[in-house]
Amino acid sequence: MIEQKALFVDGGLEAPSTSETITVIGASTGEILGVTPAAAEQDVDAAVAAARRAFAPGSPWSVWSAGERADLLDRLADEVEKRGAEAAALVAQENGMPFSTAMSVEVALPVAVYRYYAQLVRDYAFSETRPGMLGGTVVVDRVPVGVLGAIVAWNYPNLLTAFKVAPALAAGCTVVLKPSPETALDSYVFVEAVQAAGVPAGVVNVIPGGAEVGRRLVEHPGVDKISFTGSTAVGREIGARCGELLKPVTLELGGKSAAILLEDVDLAANAEGLFQATLLNNGQTCVANTRILAPRSRYDEIVDFFAALAAGAAVGDPLDPATLVGPLATARQRDRVEGYVARGIADGARLVAGGGRPAHLDRGWYVEPTVFADVHPDSAIAREEIFGPVLSVLPYDDVDHAVARANDSDYGLAGTVWTSDPDAARTVSSAIDSGTFGINYFMLDPVAPFGGTKASGLGRELGPEGLEACLRPRSTYSAV
Ligand code: NAD
Repeated sequence: MIEQKALFVDGGLEAPSTSETITVIGASTGEILGVTPAAAEQDVDAAVAAARRAFAPGSPWSVWSAGERADLLDRLADEVEKRGAEAAALVAQENGMPFSTAMSVEVALPVAVYRYYAQLVRDYAFSETRPGMLGGTVVVDRVPVGVLGAIVAWNYPNLLTAFKVAPALAAGCTVVLKPSPETALDSYVFVEAVQAAGVPAGVVNVIPGGAEVGRRLVEHPGVDKISFTGSTAVGREIGARCGELLKPVTLELGGKSAAILLEDVDLAANAEGLFQATLLNNGQTCVANTRILAPRSRYDEIVDFFAALAAGAAVGDPLDPATLVGPLATARQRDRVEGYVARGIADGARLVAGGGRPAHLDRGWYVEPTVFADVHPDSAIAREEIFGPVLSVLPYDDVDHAVARANDSDYGLAGTVWTSDPDAARTVSSAIDSGTFGINYFMLDPVAPFGGTKASGLGRELGPEGLEACLRPRSTYSAV
């Protein structure tokens, strides 16, 4: 069992202010994986104070050039990469993510994000001079927003950390990161990488804790901006409070995205891509395309295809390299997913694959990959984020109908179209109301802004837009 005894504050491992702990339970075993301290209010205050000191004018960090910050991000990428297998194995045990998925999405992708911001910031124009229209000149400086309070979900802990820490350091901000209790253990691997990379004291602080710690960060007058990834319900609460406080906020929230399969789709050729877009990380993925929209002419064939895809996916120990679908992160999450399966059946949908617990696994929070056909578009399983391996296949009459169905959602995070016709793909893509979209493929790219519309959130991460979200423009009118 792993036992962590300290919080990472002001560049060192500090004793917590209370004896409260977080117990992390293994998703595939139901047994205790490890224990960490749970930060309390005084720990938030200490972490914010350290981040403020590190940000203050004249501090060592405040005078680092963009090039020095870029070098630091490259070193951080190296150190995260070095510890990749250790972090991936921990995440697999904490939240059930298959190890091979973790190596790519929790290691290679975060490393790419750190390197991307290193490269971007080397020749970024932080200052621009414009001829004034009323005489003189105007200098527009892009200055760091200050101390960033970063609150992340448990489903992709290292990736979400990179989304927040990389642009913040690139911009010259300092960070207080609050990992989720469910994945508190892997945050200590990140802390080791931060220390080994030579991040100056106080620039990154890591304090695992629950909702109260998140609330304190949001409220704290020493935190200049909040960047939150999590559920829409909590996002609304944080957004409302930040509105009252006039504190800038980025919200990456839930989704219920649609995969539109056009009439010409080659199912066999796209099997891997369709799996990734719909069932990645056991469906515990905000961008999962859990509504499959199929043309009536091929409806039965597409239902059979997804039923076979689900039934054929190897379900098992996330550490086994052959596993495609692991357990859900927590018993609570499994109960929630099973509740949706029961509601789907009660609402009259036709269960064509899964629906139960796998017979060959007698412990862990497993749910079989599940597919429903004949799903009513207004039913709960068609409208609400399930956050598990449960897909709904809905028919459409023509492309306009498919687009209308895809857009008939409270959410707007992602979506895909599957076709060999590039013109048809672009027509569909441009008609979908979502922050991101994929054509025969879905995976985030560090160069492209990521975020949602409607109940999927506010603001963008990644790309130059993600750096701008950590900067604020400051104008100087000059008569000289
Ligand atoms: P959650 O909202 O319960 O918790 C997210 C984080 O917020 C955790 O660190 C939690 O401790 C903290 N928190 C909880 N209540 C809080 C409060 N009142 N104030 C401040 N902080 C609080 O979400 P979750 O169950 O951990 O994650 C699953 C959700 O995250 C899903 O809805 C999923 O779609 C979403 N998500 C979105 C994205 C995205 O980029 N859009 C990415 C991953 C996950």
